[in-house]
Amino acid sequence: MGLERERRFQLSFLITGGWILANVACFTFEYFNLNQREEYFYTRNFFGHSILFSRGAAQAINFNLSILLFTVCRNLLAFIRSIFPKEFGFLFDNAIYAHKRLSYAIIIWSIAHIGAHYYNFLHNYAALSASNTISHQLVNNGNLSLFKIMPAELATEIVSLQAGVSGILLTLVFFIVFTSSAEPIRRSFYNLFYYLHHFTFLIFPLLYWHGNGHAVKRQVNLDVHDPAVCSLPAYSDSWNDPGSICPEPVFQGSFSQSWKWFILSNGFYTIELIIRFFHFIWPVDYVSHEILPSDVLQLKVRKSTLSVRKNSHFIGQYVYVKLPAISIFEWHPFTLTSAPEDGFLQVHIRSAGDWTQNAIRLFKENQAIPKIIIDGPYGAPAQGLDEFQTIICAGTGIGITPFASYVRSAMIRKLESRIYFVWIAPRMDCFEWFDDLLRQAEAKVPFLRVMIFLTLSNMDPATAQDVIYAKVNSSEGNNNKSLRKNFGRPNWDKIFDEVARTNQNANVGVFSCGPKPFTDELRDISKKKSTDQLEFTFFKENF
Ligand SMILES: Cc1cc2nc3c(=O)[nH]c(=O)nc-3n(C[C@H](O)[C@H](O)[C@H](O)COP(=O)(O)OP(=O)(O)OC[C@H]3O[C@@H](n4cnc5c(N)ncnc54)[C@H](O)[C@@H]3O)c2cc1C
Repeated sequence: MGLERERRFQLSFLITGGWILANVACFTFEYFNLNQREEYFYTRNFFGHSILFSRGAAQAINFNLSILLFTVCRNLLAFIRSIFPKEFGFLFDNAIYAHKRLSYAIIIWSIAHIGAHYYNFLHNYAALSASNTISHQLVNNGNLSLFKIMPAELATEIVSLQAGVSGILLTLVFFIVFTSSAEPIRRSFYNLFYYLHHFTFLIFPLLYWHGNGHAVKRQVNLDVHDPAVCSLPAYSDSWNDPGSICPEPVFQGSFSQSWKWFILSNGFYTIELIIRFFHFIWPVDYVSHEILPSDVLQLKVRKSTLSVRKNSHFIGQYVYVKLPAISIFEWHPFTLTSAPEDGFLQVHIRSAGDWTQNAIRLFKENQAIPKIIIDGPYGAPAQGLDEFQTIICAGTGIGITPFASYVRSAMIRKLESRIYFVWIAPRMDCFEWFDDLLRQAEAKVPFLRVMIFLTLSNMDPATAQDVIYAKVNSSEGNNNKSLRKNFGRPNWDKIFDEVARTNQNANVGVFSCGPKPFTDELRDISKKKSTDQLEFTFFKENF
């Protein structure tokens, strides 16, 4: 049994709150640190507070970037998850959610950083024509000013600075990585998103170079030039005079410190890559495969003895599959349809695009079994299934896979939970993927209710009518050799009302897997049907 929902919520809230506080702390610490230190006296004076702002934002970017890589170290996360008490597992399953939140924070801080630099430039320009002595002196003495003369064009001036050109490149890389991660691009051009995402690795050397551009300088001769005294009108116009008690201030940029932020996460990511490399050179043992109706490949492999996850997995988890015969770079996620109690790992792969089509063709046409590489299993929302006594499992098409694993496990473990298994598919032959499993489970799991909906949405109306007619007139609807099917879409109101009527528990888990409009509909209905006495707790997964 996992943590109660409320405790989970509190824990997530604490972590999110801690992260927001850490962001604020990074910014504030850097801002006030520079605001107080004497060696930045003239820097503050010359550029104004925008220079402190740009540094504070830079520190917050470093902080978020330093955690970002951890969220994609899936082997490391799986390992930590395995040593943590099981009820805290959910924290590691939402790593991708954290990854997105960290990225949004990086965008916001980057905009703040760039905006602040814009004001730094404006202040630098203003100082060039300023009439006050200090600004005048700082332009002519030392190397604090980024420009000595009024630049004709801002762009030419910025690209002449190391900090400027590296800043532009960084903005470009961030822009490419962020825009290519937008959901419509990820869904329609996954490979484009995947390869462009690797531009992220340019960010680390670029940040180092950017930091070494020395746009922000500190005074290094405080022992002979006390700014509190030398900036006074009596002394500020005699910095260059022989015998003056105030020699001109000398400024120096610090070396880039960003690498200190990234050394740990880069180190762990390197270990992650090494582990993946080992998975790559040690393929798993093939057990069997079958091509099921509607071009679905059912693939079974032996559990790997090399797995860092000690061969254990939970219901609803997924693995990444790589078939080097198709692509040596691509990993594709597939939910395990085997139960944790099974001695093998099984996936069902539906033909969706290039890679899956090639995978199916490879197993269909080839006599020799291709090398199969598996990475995982990793977490998924459907892992929480065991925490509820009453569950609605709703999936469309191949989205039923996490629940197939659950039903299989329920059968092996002789579970007595009340399970409403709702499967919606456009074609009749889809149901054959798990036909045997469901029929056996119906007989063995006492409180399993299988509801199957055939939408025929991809057929023209005339053919659909023929199918319905043939179906109604066949004996199949009444015999127990095949699953009973309903036509059209489920009436969720009716199903939820029935669950509410027959349910003894105060909390019903609603697990859904399918396209977004489908999971959105279930989220709405779960909310609508929840009362003070009965809560429908919603979970979703979108393939
Ligand atoms: C957690 C999870 C579990 C999944 N479980 C199953 C399953 O049990 N059975 C099944 O048939 N499918 C499953 N999928 C979907 C499956 O991963 C994609 O259909 C497959 O990767 C498509 O690759 P493609 O190149 O053939 O198709 P494409 O035409 O390239 O893509 C089709 C769709 O799959 C997505 N996709 C493509 N490549 C990837 C990738 N490497 N990682 C994530 N998404 C990708 C795209 O965004 C697009 O929406 C699952 C997806 C996820 C995220």
